[in-house]
Amino acid sequence: MDYISTRNASLRVSAAQAIATGIAPDGGLYCPAALPALSAAELERFMNLDYKSRAAVILGKFLTEFSAEELQDFTQQAYADEKFGGADTAPVVSLKDGKHILELWHGPTCAFKDMALQILPYLLTASLKKIGEQRTACILVATSGDTGKAALEGFSDVPGTKIMVYYPAEGVSPMQKLQMTTQQGKNVQVIAIRGNFDDAQSAVKRIFTDKATIDKLNAEGMMFSSANSINWGRLAPQIAYYVSAYCDMVKSGAVKLGEKVNICVPTGNFGNILAGYIAKQMGLPVHKFICASNSNNVLTDFFRSGGTYDRNRPFYTTTSPSMDILVSSNLERLLFLVSGQDSGMVANLMQQLSETGKYTVPESLSAKITADFWAGCCDDAKAAQTIRALWDGEHYLADTHTAVGVRVYEDYRAETGDKTPTIIASTASPFKFCRAVVEALGGTLENDDVTQLDVLSGMTGLAAPAPLAALAGKQPRFDLTVDKESILGTTDLLSAL
Ligand SMILES: *Cc1c(COP(=O)(O)O)cnc(C)c1O
Repeated sequence: MDYISTRNASLRVSAAQAIATGIAPDGGLYCPAALPALSAAELERFMNLDYKSRAAVILGKFLTEFSAEELQDFTQQAYADEKFGGADTAPVVSLKDGKHILELWHGPTCAFKDMALQILPYLLTASLKKIGEQRTACILVATSGDTGKAALEGFSDVPGTKIMVYYPAEGVSPMQKLQMTTQQGKNVQVIAIRGNFDDAQSAVKRIFTDKATIDKLNAEGMMFSSANSINWGRLAPQIAYYVSAYCDMVKSGAVKLGEKVNICVPTGNFGNILAGYIAKQMGLPVHKFICASNSNNVLTDFFRSGGTYDRNRPFYTTTSPSMDILVSSNLERLLFLVSGQDSGMVANLMQQLSETGKYTVPESLSAKITADFWAGCCDDAKAAQTIRALWDGEHYLADTHTAVGVRVYEDYRAETGDKTPTIIASTASPFKFCRAVVEALGGTLENDDVTQLDVLSGMTGLAAPAPLAALAGKQPRFDLTVDKESILGTTDLLSAL
């Protein structure tokens, strides 16, 4: 199967090339040239498979240069029981009123990023081999918190790779910072940038395009690569868990095979929900996608306004920081898919976005989009109420991001009367955003995040995930903070790894 750039449909590469390079040279995102099909008979066969095998089959449909054995081997290692707390890699917890919570945070860093970043290192190193690349891949990551730790954990001590993560000194939670700065591994480096996430992101983009730095690295046998969600190797593994969740719901009797479900996703960069949309295009029976945002509701306005995307607005720091984002990069892939691969139109809209911060899609396109998507948003106060109500009413503990999804789903159900069973993506462990969750339950705050794990455990009787509990008392290995102007100099550290 070939991959084409969203900005130039005549630019075609193999899956291995798409994964190894991350982004198309024209700045577009790689998309499959045609989406593979998923039949009802196949879904039925999935019933008796575990998550690892379901994921290997789904990945095989997209990564045709990889053998079935290769992919089985990768999913067995990436989703090993000891890394995901058991064989139930992504369990579905069914609650009242049509809510089926798909828990995507049982991996080593306690957020859904692990579902893709545990397997990406296997896909990336195999892709480099397949295209005959001999150089060491240097993965650069700009993070607002969760991606950085998940990428470090995935690439730590993976032969043929080095990884350097840049995080905004003022923009991550104490827990996220401690997770990153205590990372083990000989090939890892973690650096704080003075400024916010946008500063970190644009500084990293500068490295990627700096010719002198690229040449210097090349001379030392190294090349740059990316682990952000623009990389197809991160999106493909996410398609599998929607298919798997549907199978689990059929098995539990929540739906009959072939019956439709809704999918509701707390959304930032639009990667997670897009993976669900692709599953539907392949044949998964889905009625509506519910796109849930926090106060940074640029996507809510996009879907509700009939297709005007406008990032010119205030940026809010919320209790769901992984969704604090104003440019949702994977929306570009949706426009490309829904328009029947109209790369000229997509290139034009993306140029408008970079020049004016806004664009409006043609009416015919917006009609097609709203047939599949419903959107809503939820502020911090409502998210906190939702955490409290879920705990008091159903004894289910949700994190702040998941709470945004649950609340927007409740609004959807009230507004439309649609009672279709709904998969709600739960994207992080409540213990990862402990402070806000303790507050939502009416608890008292301590200053130290790690201490608060005990507070939340005490209030709920639930145990904190082992990887978070293990952070207590750990000494940070990395304490370098730089100005964004001096970021190019930090690439010297790659040679030393
Ligand atoms: C990254 C993240 C999101 C947003 O996912 P997108 O794919 O960017 O839409 C939501 N919740 C958590 C906890 C995350 O880490």
